[in-house]
Amino acid sequence: MAYDDNNVFAKILRGEIPSKKVFENEHALAFHDIHPARPVHVLVIPKGKYADFTDFTTRASAAEQTGFYKAVTAAAKAAGVLDAGYRLVANTGVNGGQEVPHFHIHILGGANVGPMVLR
Ligand code: 5GP
Repeated sequence: MAYDDNNVFAKILRGEIPSKKVFENEHALAFHDIHPARPVHVLVIPKGKYADFTDFTTRASAAEQTGFYKAVTAAAKAAGVLDAGYRLVANTGVNGGQEVPHFHIHILGGANVGPMVLR
């Protein structure tokens, strides 16, 4: 999947559209999903330009990848779901149902999220 500088998450990173921040570090930003699918629904994105999971894990440096995955845990903690549990989802590409072409992980929780495949 090609990277598009005009995708909504690129605009959020540039501060061109607002987001409700949950956590931020050098390599990642976490914010609330605009249309929450569960009581807690947070998105975690790398600050670098990576289109999807494959692109991120192939091209991002070790420091970027470590910083990103540590941000996922920190965001889950900040959102209050660490102890009760949560689900991580990374829709990837056309068959994965990915809508925004900037790599992101969904953190879903706040209640039992139900069967493995959502929606
Ligand atoms: P995908 O289907 O690509 O895995 O998930 C994209 C997610 O981004 C969706 O859950 C959608 O609700 C969320 N989203 C789309 N546009 C915006 C936006 O402008 N702000 C925020 N916070 N979330 C968005």
